[in-house]
Amino acid sequence: MPGDRPEQKPEKPLENKPEVKPAASQPPTKPAVKPSDVIVNEKVEVVQKEEKPVADKISIGELHLSGCTGCLVTLADNYEGLFKLLDDYADLVYALTLVDVRHVPAMDVCLVEGSCCLDDKLSVEELKEARAKSKVLVAYGACAAYGNITRFCRGGQWNQPGQEAFVPISEVVDVDLYLPSCPPCPQAVRNVAVMAYLLLRGNDEQKSLATAYLTPLMQLAQRGDTACGCDLMYDVINQGLCMGCGTCAGTCPVRAITMEYGRPNVNRDLCIKCGACYAQCPRSWFNFDVMNNYEGIMDAIRGAMQ
Ligand code: SF4
Ligand code: SF4
Repeated sequence: MPGDRPEQKPEKPLENKPEVKPAASQPPTKPAVKPSDVIVNEKVEVVQKEEKPVADKISIGELHLSGCTGCLVTLADNYEGLFKLLDDYADLVYALTLVDVRHVPAMDVCLVEGSCCLDDKLSVEELKEARAKSKVLVAYGACAAYGNITRFCRGGQWNQPGQEAFVPISEVVDVDLYLPSCPPCPQAVRNVAVMAYLLLRGNDEQKSLATAYLTPLMQLAQRGDTACGCDLMYDVINQGLCMGCGTCAGTCPVRAITMEYGRPNVNRDLCIKCGACYAQCPRSWFNFDVMNNYEGIMDAIRGAMQ
């Protein structure tokens, strides 16, 4: 918390500062310091002390089901942030076109992109295998979370004309966490990857911050694709969290939400309880718990990415 932050002492010597030696034929080596050993509030020192914890990385895979591949592009859109992630925190062990591995391996975090086509036995089996081999399974993007545009597919697609049953992945396997949006923004992917690392490998303070950040996304997954317009009313709009962005109205497949005076109005008679508005609303997961810990969360992410 801002008020609890200890006074910084810039002149304090670094604990793991490498011993200074006169110039010699061998360059001095830095001691290895993992991010999990670093205290968040001393992030200025983190930048100077951090060494790549290669042996301590988590493994991440991306399972591609029925979607447009936009989520995979978003993952790559992290640019230099992606290199930092892959250098220090995560090994990408499975991903369409990016990793030459044909069978689903064991992994810490599996990002599942796209909905699951029940007519495609291979997709169903791959999804179940990924669930069995992952510690954390993430519905990565709107199609995986609640079906999104693929729910409108009723067969007759150009390359797969016989496929007509596309469902959110939560209808086939248990999902630990939603990372919604179409596609999720690169920063959100980066933040979730860093927070997953800190949750699995961090110190107690980092685990606490990671829990605060990830819990609303886990709660989204628990609601699955069953949240309705009323949940949006009670959890977001009535709580004063709505910022009037209109995402819920734009995403509702039956036009049950209209924007009136800058705020959404839900027609409950039209609502089919698909969960789209709730999953897509940025304030359904960026709630008071996250806001109350926001400074510490961002310090942890920035400290890790520097
Ligand atoms: S039908 Fe519209 S209002 Fe109802 S849950 Fe789906 S997106 Fe929300
Ligand atoms: S998506 Fe959420 S924040 Fe945006 S208008 Fe709808 S309820 Fe408000």
